Amino acid sequence: MNNTELNNRVIARGKEFFSTISGEKPSLFNKGAWMGKVMDWSMQNETFKIQMFRFVDVFPSLTTGKLLTDHIREYFGEEKDMPPVLSTGAKVAGMLGSFGGAMLNKFLTTNIQEMARQFIVGENTKEAIKNMERLRKDGFAFVVDVLGEATLSEKEADIYMNTYLELLDSLKKEYKEWKPLPGKGGDANLDWGHAPKVNVAVKPTALFCLANPQDFEGSVVAILERVRKIAKKVMELDGFLCIDMESYRHKDIIIEVYKRLKLEFPNYDQFGIVLQAYLVDTDKDLPELLAWARQKSVKISIRLVKGAYWDMETVKAKQNDWAIPVWTIKAESDAAYERQAKMILESSDICHFACASHNIRTISAVMEMAKELNVPDERYEFQVLYGMAEPVRRGILKVAGRIRLYCPYGDMVPGMGYLVRRLLENTANESFLRQSFAEDAQIERLLEDPEITAQRERAARAAAKKQEAKGPGGLKPFYNEAMVDFTRADHRAAFPKEIAEVRKQLGKTYPLFINGKEVKTADTIPSVNPNKPSETIGVICQAGTKEVGDAIAAAKKAFPAWRDTEPKDRAQYLIKAAAVARRRIFELSAWQVLEIGKQWDQAYADVCEAIDFLEYYAREMITLGTPKRVGNAPGELNHYFYEPKGVAAVIAPWNFPLAISLGMTSAAIVAGNCVVFKPSGITSVIGYHIVELFREAGLPEGVFNYTPGRGSVMGDFLVDSPDVSLIAFTGSMEVGLRIIDRAAKVYPGQENVKKIVCEMGGKNAIIIDDDADLDEAVPHVLYSAFGFQGQKCSACSRVIVLDAVYDKFVERLVSMAQATLVGPSEDPAHYMGAVADDKAMKTIKEYAEIGKKEGHVLYESKVPSDGGYYVPMTIIGGIKPEHRIAQEEIFGPVLAVMRAKDFDQAIEWANSTKFALTGGVFSRSPEHLTQARRQFRVGNLYLNRNNTGALVGRQPFGGSKMSGVGTKAGGHDYLLHFMDPRVVTENTMRRGFAPVEEDDDWVA
Ligand SMILES: Cc1cc2nc3c(=O)[nH]c(=O)nc-3n(C[C@H](O)[C@H](O)[C@H](O)COP(=O)(O)OP(=O)(O)OC[C@H]3O[C@@H](n4cnc5c(N)ncnc54)[C@H](O)[C@@H]3O)c2cc1C
Repeated sequence: MNNTELNNRVIARGKEFFSTISGEKPSLFNKGAWMGKVMDWSMQNETFKIQMFRFVDVFPSLTTGKLLTDHIREYFGEEKDMPPVLSTGAKVAGMLGSFGGAMLNKFLTTNIQEMARQFIVGENTKEAIKNMERLRKDGFAFVVDVLGEATLSEKEADIYMNTYLELLDSLKKEYKEWKPLPGKGGDANLDWGHAPKVNVAVKPTALFCLANPQDFEGSVVAILERVRKIAKKVMELDGFLCIDMESYRHKDIIIEVYKRLKLEFPNYDQFGIVLQAYLVDTDKDLPELLAWARQKSVKISIRLVKGAYWDMETVKAKQNDWAIPVWTIKAESDAAYERQAKMILESSDICHFACASHNIRTISAVMEMAKELNVPDERYEFQVLYGMAEPVRRGILKVAGRIRLYCPYGDMVPGMGYLVRRLLENTANESFLRQSFAEDAQIERLLEDPEITAQRERAARAAAKKQEAKGPGGLKPFYNEAMVDFTRADHRAAFPKEIAEVRKQLGKTYPLFINGKEVKTADTIPSVNPNKPSETIGVICQAGTKEVGDAIAAAKKAFPAWRDTEPKDRAQYLIKAAAVARRRIFELSAWQVLEIGKQWDQAYADVCEAIDFLEYYAREMITLGTPKRVGNAPGELNHYFYEPKGVAAVIAPWNFPLAISLGMTSAAIVAGNCVVFKPSGITSVIGYHIVELFREAGLPEGVFNYTPGRGSVMGDFLVDSPDVSLIAFTGSMEVGLRIIDRAAKVYPGQENVKKIVCEMGGKNAIIIDDDADLDEAVPHVLYSAFGFQGQKCSACSRVIVLDAVYDKFVERLVSMAQATLVGPSEDPAHYMGAVADDKAMKTIKEYAEIGKKEGHVLYESKVPSDGGYYVPMTIIGGIKPEHRIAQEEIFGPVLAVMRAKDFDQAIEWANSTKFALTGGVFSRSPEHLTQARRQFRVGNLYLNRNNTGALVGRQPFGGSKMSGVGTKAGGHDYLLHFMDPRVVTENTMRRGFAPVEEDDDWVA
């Protein structure tokens, strides 16, 4: 706030506010009650806070006494170990001792339900309306919201929408009878003389289960369809509708929905939207929205909040390496709020303002700014959340008169999610309410101009700035390439643009690349778009045994010089290739959309992973490239170091056509080997991109040779060659085992035992425990099973569901599947596209038929019949471990669903195949998660998330048993498989004296 006088008035008003409520406490912080004690204990003890809030989260799923007792023990320990707030509370209530668990269950159940009731105005419409009427009698207006966070199907979205319609029908019968809240004149039928009595808020993403910025237009249209119905009903009551703001991911979709709704009903002024001051974007979004309203001559309403998802936004951004979308200093959010509130108040002629905050500084600032700008009362109001900050709301009622409570109502299950958010909000160190009412912070500091606080904290942060970490060889430390961010309009626009550009280049002929030269052959094979096989992506020259022989010879010739190139110099070629791939990232992704039918995000992720491999292995090699001393005996130097093996044959799959190909290739190359690369026949154009990347990086001739060809013609020749010392293969188990078998044979002239780095298939299972969060489990299973048509070796092909939640899980999974569409991958509306080729299509269909005989179809989607290689999304129930579709790898969108009696059986079934690649568990039982860590024997186990999408360096990837030979791509030990270790020992003692080395184990 750059107006000192105004700021002084704000502080004075704040002080007065504090003095009028002095001695009062919000009920949340009342230590006389159990809830207050829990809050108090949570603020003192972070571990308890996490356990308690996690327990509250799982609580609605604990539907039997045993589940509840087990979870209480798992979360809080035995009675003797329990924190006093639980054990003492229960003891006081006479519930421990001889009665034990059952009574404790009752104690906790009663108290948690009561805690939820604190924030929820009712569990059903009738109760909610009754309580809201009571609030009105106390002078508070309401805005009512139906709880319902994760909508997973169209059915659930309809239920959510219909609850609103029914609520509005019920309100219609009542609201006219309500006495309007008093105001200073105006319309006698309206609250405060100007405001509708009925005011509802909706969570827009609950109105469409597939809301996703990747399909921006589809999401907007689908949400709008249901919002419109609610809006029309609201209009019948002359009510007010506010569209709530959710996570950043959906922000632009929500703004667009609001704008379109406004334009459909331009003369209806009672539609509002929420903007979040904690978002950096809001400084741009707000003026844009105001300018838009002016230009369209419509009146809008904005509820300004700071924002409810701060932790999630920061964590998500960090995980994906995106710019953090929120302010990171609390006072920056407060300052943004005041800045933006001022802007809205200045536009009060076109924009009504709802100030939603519990912060006395923020509220005082709004009051003073409104006064200074002479904003009429009917153009702004105050809002707080039901159940919070009672003294603040009473204070506002006294001073401003116009206060509205945000009243969520509905079931306990979504209610718990809401409760946890509120508990987190109130116990956060930065919370104004915590600081004011639980910690009695200095009023002066609480009322300080946030701009000044922010400046001070920015300066402190700059002073404490950590030195930037350095990676090997002076490079930056490794970081994963940022994932595509479809919240960005430029990322959304890039795909259609690049796909159109790539289309202009289709049909070219691609030569081989041997010894730094392009080589054309008469034999060619076209590569086609699986979604539209009539579209030729490229025509690929095919290597025969002659060309493969030439490539091996070139690699062999190049080897000595490449081997003797310093590891740090070899690494530089990878770094350069990574830079080229980064520059071409959207174009390379577009090729994948067309040549192998990846969805936009899947294609981009593949290119990111390819870049990651280049960057990661470059650094790994620099580290490994320095000989290490082993042993510290004086007078002796032992150096351990690595040498490459020679010529490496890299045989790559089509499913990660750039990532896995470049992963294996770059590992071999940076380790000092020379490569003969055979891409998959159906993704050879993408394979050729590796030629382009390495050419631009300036890799010496012969180090990388590209030889696509028919496996039947040149595959064995390559594997059998006595000059090949290493084979890196990723693909099916059958081919992998065949390679291992053939490679065991030693041919005349062969110098090395062939080393095989081999990643094969999987039959990956996800276990759904009886306490799993189905809101999370269902979309993650769907994605793991059907993302990229289930054609990932990590994909989930079995879901093992505990009996207690089987029916509910299956019902929600199938309903969500029903909402998805199958069609060309280049259209982001399609969840699934065509599979790789006609052969895959046939095999998958055969397996689906086998599955139908072994079990029963739970869901089979429709597919386009336009000649693309489509197979339906298929979910089959009633599958037992002995069934073929529970044992054999299908590599397509067929998911087997199995019903297990308990967690032990689920683990046993999960381990019951010959594969051990990935696995997943959705559970909120700490004991079961521990058990899974120990007993669920797979290479990559994922707890409470999808089981695909391993990241280089973070989830080194690879399995054992028949899934592979135990190597981990993207892990610290991967490069070791491409080299031979050597040790050189030197006796440094001559004539009785030895130089002293720094790390000698010398006589003390
Ligand atoms: C009527 C009403 C409706 C609401 N509707 C929505 C909605 O649609 N969407 C939504 O997201 N929220 C909504 N909220 C919730 C709201 O976002 C939080 O209640 C609000 O952020 C708390 O702010 P405060 O001013 O009351 O408290 P304060 O204690 O002053 O501020 C807390 C807020 O500061 C921000 N913050 C915390 N730590 C940091 C940090 N390190 N750096 C930067 N910022 C930080 C966070 O936004 C946090 O919630 C609504 C609230 C009300 C009262």
